[in-house]
Amino acid sequence: MRTPLIAGNWKMNGSRELIEHFGRQVTSDALPGGVSAALMVPFPYLEAANKAFKAGPLVVGAQTLSDQPSGAFTGEVSGNMLAELGAQYVLVGHSERRALFHEDDTAVLARVRAALAAGLVPMLCLGETLEEREAERTEAVVLGQLEAVLDALEADQRQRLVIAYEPVWAIGTGRTASPEQAQAVHEVIRARLARYSAPLAEGMQLLYGGSMKASNAAELLAQPDIDGGLVGGASLKVDDFLAICQSA
Ligand code: PGA
Repeated sequence: MRTPLIAGNWKMNGSRELIEHFGRQVTSDALPGGVSAALMVPFPYLEAANKAFKAGPLVVGAQTLSDQPSGAFTGEVSGNMLAELGAQYVLVGHSERRALFHEDDTAVLARVRAALAAGLVPMLCLGETLEEREAERTEAVVLGQLEAVLDALEADQRQRLVIAYEPVWAIGTGRTASPEQAQAVHEVIRARLARYSAPLAEGMQLLYGGSMKASNAAELLAQPDIDGGLVGGASLKVDDFLAICQSA
C-alpha cells in the first residue's frame, strides 16, 4: 500500500523562528504512525530546517530549482545545492511557477530531470485553471502536463516521482475541490499511469492540493486515489498542519 504523505508548501512565507517551532512540535509522537510529512521551505531556510527537523520525522523539501547543474545563472539554485542542504523533495511545475514565472512543460521537464540527476524526489504539480475546467478541458490539460514529463523519462525515473494534482482555481482561494471532483481527476491520472506500467500506477503517491485544511482533509484523504496532500496556507500553522496529518 502507498504511504500517505502530507507536504506543506510555505511559498514565500515563514521565518527561521517558525522553522524551529515546527521542529519542536512535529515529533514522531505528534504524527500518526505510517504517515510521512514534509515541508517545502524557502531556500534560505533549508539549512535551518534540516537542523531543526533532524531528530524528528519531518523531511525537508524545496520549492523549485534550476534546470542547470551549475554555471553563469545569476540568482539560480541547483539541485545539488539543495541536496547538500538536506532537501529530499523539490516541487516542480507548481501552478505559480507555471503562471508567474512562465515555466511551460519543456521547462518543467528540464527541472524534473535536474532534480532526478541531483538525487531529489521531484513533486510534479498538475492542474487546470477555472477557465479550462469550465470548458471541460480538465482531463486534457492535466494529462497533457503529465505526459509532457513522463513520456520523456525512463521507466526507473518515473518511479522516483511524486505527483500532486492541484486545481488552480482551488489554490489559495478557500475554494476546495469536492472529494468527488478530486477523486475523479486522481482516478484519471492513475489510469494513465497504468499505461506506462501497472506497478507505476499502484505505487505512485498522488497528492491533492488546493485549500486543503483541517476541516476538509479527512474526506479528501479518504478517497481511494488520494494518497496525501500538498498544503499551502494551512501548513503555516503547526496545529493545522498536524491536524491534517492526523486525518491521513
Ligand atoms: P493552498 O496552496 O493550500 O494555500 O491552496 C496549495 C499549494 O499551492 O500548494
